Amino acid sequence: MIVRPDPFIAIGEIETAQRRIGAHIRVTPVERSGSLSERSGVPVALKLEHHQHSGSFKFRGATNAVLNLDEAQRRAGVVAVSTGNHGRGLARACAMAGVRCTIAMSSLVPQNKIDAIRGEGAEVLIHGRSQDEAQIEVDRLVAGGMTMIPPFDHRDVIAGQGTLGLEILDAMPDVATVLVQLSGGGLICGVAAAIKARRPGVRIVGVSMERGAAMHASLAAGRPVEVPELPTLADSLGGGIGLANVHTFAMVKALVDDVVLLTEREIADGIAHAYWQERQIVEGSGAVGLGALLAGKVALDGPTMLILSGGNIDMGLHYRIVSGEDFDVAGEAA
Ligand SMILES: *Cc1c(COP(=O)(O)O)cnc(C)c1O
Repeated sequence: MIVRPDPFIAIGEIETAQRRIGAHIRVTPVERSGSLSERSGVPVALKLEHHQHSGSFKFRGATNAVLNLDEAQRRAGVVAVSTGNHGRGLARACAMAGVRCTIAMSSLVPQNKIDAIRGEGAEVLIHGRSQDEAQIEVDRLVAGGMTMIPPFDHRDVIAGQGTLGLEILDAMPDVATVLVQLSGGGLICGVAAAIKARRPGVRIVGVSMERGAAMHASLAAGRPVEVPELPTLADSLGGGIGLANVHTFAMVKALVDDVVLLTEREIADGIAHAYWQERQIVEGSGAVGLGALLAGKVALDGPTMLILSGGNIDMGLHYRIVSGEDFDVAGEAA
C-alpha cells in the first residue's frame, strides 16, 4: 500500500516553527500606508518582510528546515536549487546553524543574486539553462548523502513561512484581506494556514505576474501544469510548481480565495510606489501586492495587509524604474 503524506500543514506545525526559529528571525515591522489607506478607503498596512535576514521571507522556512535536521543530516550538509532568494535564505540559515550548504542554479540567474549567495558562505554550482537542469546536479549530491531543501513544497518550509501569518494577526487582529505573492505557493500556504486556522473569514488573495504564472495555470487546469518561463520584473515569482507537487497545489486550492495577475507595467508601478510613497526599496516580486492595489485589481472591504516579501533587486534596474526610464526587462517598454 502506498501511504500518501498529508498535504496540509497544520497550525500546530506553524506554532512549533515559531518556537524553533523565534530566536533567529526578525519579527519584521508593520507600517500603515497613509497613501494607500486614503486611496482605498480602508486601513492598509505593509508587512516589511524585505527587512528579514537575507532580504526575504525565505529565511524563515529555510531556518525552520535546517534546525529540524538530525545530527547525521547536519554533518552531510544541505543542497538546493534556487533562482536566488531561497538560496540566499538557506545559505544564511546554514551559516547560522553551522551546516554546509551547496546551491545549484541555472546560468540565467542574475549575477547580483549569485554573488549574494556566495557572500552568505554557500558554495554555488552553475548548471544548465533551467531549474530542471540545475536539479540534475542536486540529485547527484543527494545520492551522495546530502539533504535537499526545496524552496516551497516541503512541510518545514511552509510551516516556517507560516510564522509570517501569525505575525500579521498579531499586528492587525481585525484584518479582512491579505494580499500575498504567489509563485510555488510556500508563502501563501503558510500564511493562509496560520491565518485561517484562527480567523477563517479572512480573505487571502494571491498575486502573480501575467508572464509565467504556473500556479494560476495549474488551478485553471485542475492539476499541476508547466508554463513557459519568461523574463519578468517579478523574477522571484518565476518557475514551475512541480508536476509531482505534494502540498502547495492542494493547499492553494483549498485556502486561497482569489488569484490576480499583473502586467510588467503594474509591477513597475508597485516598485515605484514603494520607493516614492512608502520610502521602501523592494524587488518586483515584493511589490506585486502594491501593484495589484494601485491597479484596482482587488476589491477591499476592510483592513488590508500587503506583504513586501523581498528587497533583493539590482540597484541599477531599481534606479531606472523609479526614475521612470525604460526598464525593458521583459521586452515591454516603460
Ligand atoms: C520566493 C519568493 C516569493 C514567492 O514565494 P512562493 O513560496 O514560491 O510562492 C515571493 N516574493 C519573494 C521576494 C520571493 O523570494
